[in-house]
Amino acid sequence: MDVPSSASVVVVGAGVHGLSTALHLAELQGSGDGIFVLDKQRVGAGASGVSGGIVRNFYLSAAMNEIVRRSVEIFELDPSLFGFRQVGYVAVVPEAQAEELEQIAAQHADVGYVSKLVQGAEPVRAHMESLFPDWQARGSTALLHEERSGWADPTATLAALEGMTRAAGVGIVEGVAVVGFQMSGSAVSAVEASAGRIECDVVVLAPGPWARDIVRLLGLTDELPFHYWQVREGEYVYSSAALDARSPVVHLDADEPVTGLPDSWGIYFRPGLARGVAIGALPLPLDADCELDPYGASHPELGLTTREFDESVTAAMSWALGRFGHDFERWTCSSHGAQTCFTPDSYPVVDFLRENVYAVLDSNHGFKMLALGKLAAAEILGKPQPELDTFRLARFASGALHPSSSSPYPWT
Ligand SMILES: Cc1cc2nc3c(=O)[nH]c(=O)nc-3n(C[C@H](O)[C@H](O)[C@H](O)COP(=O)(O)OP(=O)(O)OC[C@H]3O[C@@H](n4cnc5c(N)ncnc54)[C@H](O)[C@@H]3O)c2cc1C
Repeated sequence: MDVPSSASVVVVGAGVHGLSTALHLAELQGSGDGIFVLDKQRVGAGASGVSGGIVRNFYLSAAMNEIVRRSVEIFELDPSLFGFRQVGYVAVVPEAQAEELEQIAAQHADVGYVSKLVQGAEPVRAHMESLFPDWQARGSTALLHEERSGWADPTATLAALEGMTRAAGVGIVEGVAVVGFQMSGSAVSAVEASAGRIECDVVVLAPGPWARDIVRLLGLTDELPFHYWQVREGEYVYSSAALDARSPVVHLDADEPVTGLPDSWGIYFRPGLARGVAIGALPLPLDADCELDPYGASHPELGLTTREFDESVTAAMSWALGRFGHDFERWTCSSHGAQTCFTPDSYPVVDFLRENVYAVLDSNHGFKMLALGKLAAAEILGKPQPELDTFRLARFASGALHPSSSSPYPWT
């Protein structure tokens, strides 16, 4: 598709948030005419395309609990179209995090999101054995089982969003980068793209990990200092052992001694897309000016993990489930890294950054958060959404930040 010379809305980025926002704008307006999504590469070239696809509501921030509930309602409209497996999500934690689970369970009840809290070492063990007969992890004293959560195949979700967005009449232009903005007072009057200038009424920013670079073009670097992490995940196969496709996603934090792991450690796992098990573990901090391109697994350094990483996640996996052995040489490992971008309090910024520039900067929470685009579209069309009040940029100046949990992950 050719780059237009003018548009009503230019959306920067064809990941889940750019597509979801464009789709809902078109639906609310009754047509996608004049709405264009530009991507410097292609649909799903960023974090959405490499996402683990886990759909969970394990957040200490009540505002996030509400957004995830609304997002899961979107997945539930057509689970098969979105590639959504509603198999549940179980967070299993040691004593140090038990109180937080109580709080999250209460918040789930408040927003109408079904979850079951189990407390005490013995009840936790019994619950996990009912899900996995060979469960053998010890030292866990609480768990929270979210029955409406699960995971989605990112390729299917992106294909569904892309198809719906195109069908709504939105133009998706791939291979075109936004390289600057022409300002008229506090508003953007035109987007400078690699293929030419596009005059526009509204700009929507959904640049994923490239948020740092887009925000710099708008002169907002001081207001939004991002921090970066390398997420590390993989698909692992051990002999003929497998997880049942209906197994819930498991998030396991532990402080039990396991050879090769630090005193306090965590993994998360779900059935893989092939016959293996998809496992992730704690991310590594990166420099705030780290290289983003090429993105993900194709990056010569940040796309790689180490043998030590593979050894540690497989050791943790075999500690948790008896079907997997400790003998590393029998594991087939296919892991990768990807750069991720976080806001100062590691929660999304969803707000107008300039008079006619709306941003959905999800702080790497977002594959599951399809509802952000729906709420954003309503705000862009002039209807403020109270559910987004805690996600404004102004919170960094006012200090009204989201709660931080004791979880070792930057995204809980
Ligand atoms: C390895 C990994 C695992 C993850 N696992 C999960 C998970 O299990 N569950 C979950 O909910 N979330 C997960 N996430 C987070 C989630 O994937 C992201 O938060 C979400 O996909 C971000 O979507 P987005 O649309 O904002 O950005 P992206 O999907 O990154 O899309 C941004 C797009 O913008 C384009 N772009 C950037 N700059 C420009 C420019 N100047 N001009 C034009 N186009 C531009 C890029 O090419 C890209 O396609 C994971 C992330 C990673 C990296």
